[in-house]
Parts: sequence; structure tokens; C-alpha cells
Amino acid sequence: MFSPAEIEVVSQAVEIAEDVTANHFKISTARWKHVRYDIRTLAELSPHEITDYAFAQITRYSGKTELSGQRHYDYFKICLQDQNIKAAVERDERVRLLPLGIYVVTHELVHIVRFCKFLQRFDAEPLERQREEMRVHEITQRVLGSLKLPHLGYVLEVYGDYQFMEKLKDHSLAAST
Ligand SMILES: [Zn+2]
Repeated sequence: MFSPAEIEVVSQAVEIAEDVTANHFKISTARWKHVRYDIRTLAELSPHEITDYAFAQITRYSGKTELSGQRHYDYFKICLQDQNIKAAVERDERVRLLPLGIYVVTHELVHIVRFCKFLQRFDAEPLERQREEMRVHEITQRVLGSLKLPHLGYVLEVYGDYQFMEKLKDHSLAAST
């Protein structure tokens, strides 16, 4: 798990990632609040939200709510995998936590925005999913391209087309909840 000091770095990374992503897609602060997602670290994950094979897992919770008159809703939880992110930092001393955190969170937010804008289906077929992954890598490079931050260039270079950024997992909620 991330230490308290690392959590602070990750929170900073989340703030920067949200900022640059909202800017890139020209989403105002007011509208950004309607993007239904949460970002959590290992300490706040359930067993089904943990994976050994990626930096993150996006769990989509969908269901029907009685309050909204049986309207279907989706909510995305970006589950950061502390253990895998830490391992990457420990493996290569040129990979620092802040730039890696910014990179991972921005990549995941690009996915979320595209799901919310219906530019991509969450349950796409494997081939389409692979194409989407390449697109998201490209967009993420553009989003972060102008960000002047030490050591970010190295992360972009090393993880530019990394295939284990995230796992997607659906978790349907019962109609009554
Ligand atoms: Zn991805």
C-alpha cells in the first residue's frame, strides 16, 4: 500500500491529471462535476477491485435507481493498484511516483470521458478495445505533451504503449439498491 507520504503525492497527481484532462476536453468545472467517477487507492478497494496485472482497474457500477424513476445509471471507480505502481517505481529509479501517477490517472480519465461521451463502449469487443487503447495512449500523450514537469518525458517514453494500464470490470448492482 502507499505510505501516507505517497498518498499525498498521488493526490497531487490526481489534481493535476483532472485539471489537464478537463482542459483538453474543454469541460468546465461545473460540467466536470457531472462526470460520475471516483478515484481510490488500495486501502479503499474491495477484493473484486484488486488486480495484479495492471496499474489500475476501472470498475463500472451500473444499475437502476428508484429515485430517478428506474433510469439506468453508470458510475465508474478508478481503482489504483498501489502495489503495481510502487513496483514500477522500485524497478526503475528514473520512474518517479508523481509523473507516473499523473500519467496513469490521466490515461484512466481519458477512458472515462470517452465512455461518458459515448465515444467508446465499456463492453467493446477485444479488437475494438485494443484499438481504443491505442487511441487513449495517443490522446494521453497529447494531453500531457505541454505539461512541463521533471521526469514526465521519461514516463511517457517508457509507458507510451504499455498494454497493462488497466483492467475493465463490470459490476452490476441489484435493481433495488
Ligand atoms: Zn487504457
